[in-house]
Amino acid sequence: MALAGKVALVTGSTSGIGLGIARALAREGADVMLNGFGDAAQIERLRAEITMEHSVRVHYNGADLSDPLQVAALVSTTQRELGALDVLVNNAGIQFVSPIEDFPDEKWQAIIALNLSATFYAMKAAIPMMKSKRWGRIINVASAHGLVASANKIAYVAAKHGVVGATKVAALEVANDGVTVNAICPGWVLTPLVEQQLKDRAAASGGDVASEAVKLLEEKQPMLSFTSPEAIGEMVVFLCSDAAATITGSPLSIDGGWVAQ
Ligand code: NAD
Repeated sequence: MALAGKVALVTGSTSGIGLGIARALAREGADVMLNGFGDAAQIERLRAEITMEHSVRVHYNGADLSDPLQVAALVSTTQRELGALDVLVNNAGIQFVSPIEDFPDEKWQAIIALNLSATFYAMKAAIPMMKSKRWGRIINVASAHGLVASANKIAYVAAKHGVVGATKVAALEVANDGVTVNAICPGWVLTPLVEQQLKDRAAASGGDVASEAVKLLEEKQPMLSFTSPEAIGEMVVFLCSDAAATITGSPLSIDGGWVAQ
């Protein structure tokens, strides 16, 4: 129970990677604020299940993090309801795939707002409290696309490169305040976000989702297997540990060799 008594906010934790991270932090004893969209009854079932399983406090707040005011409010609500904010995981993210010339302006704005700007606003709101406690962990979920590009993902790649840059700046600013700031850069993780891309690809090619999954991996990853949300949860737990106290400002890959090429 390495994180007993700590409070964690995981954005976009009603699904996929964020949910894997929230479960791993709760297992280590952290109280958790869940956030994200979805069916209210299903989210309540998740909240109750994690509470029961790990005997920690689990709250939920459905803030829309594409709105800067709601990001700041989520941070202050976490502090008010759970008494602190020790671990901030900026994970909520969306994707849209199109060549630049057809890329809708509103999709660019939505992706930059959520995938990049929300990370800035959440760090801005959380850092003062972490500095005053002289302990904090900020983990920004970037992507292999924070380090290298792919065609047709202009907004996502720009936002994730921005997240890596913002991570480095924040790490420098709090280097001697007991706070570390790192980015995790996953390759392919099988979550609803990628399942949607697989369905779109199958619809476009006339193929099936299973064969599109193999093709998707082959295009980018030397290792032909998906990373699990659970593995990313374990990586976050490690970054919160004492052993990771001097890891800061790092984009940490978990990508089956994607960016080694
Ligand atoms: P997902 O679609 O399963 O989950 C996204 C989460 O964000 C959900 O909880 C959703 O409700 C929430 N969300 C969406 N819009 C929101 C908003 N406006 N405000 C608050 N919450 C919102 O996706 P995922 O694959 O788990 O992705 C999580 C993160 O990991 C994203 O930042 C994504 O870019 C990144 N990532 C994913 C992969 C992958 O292969 N799946 C790879 C690299 C990086």
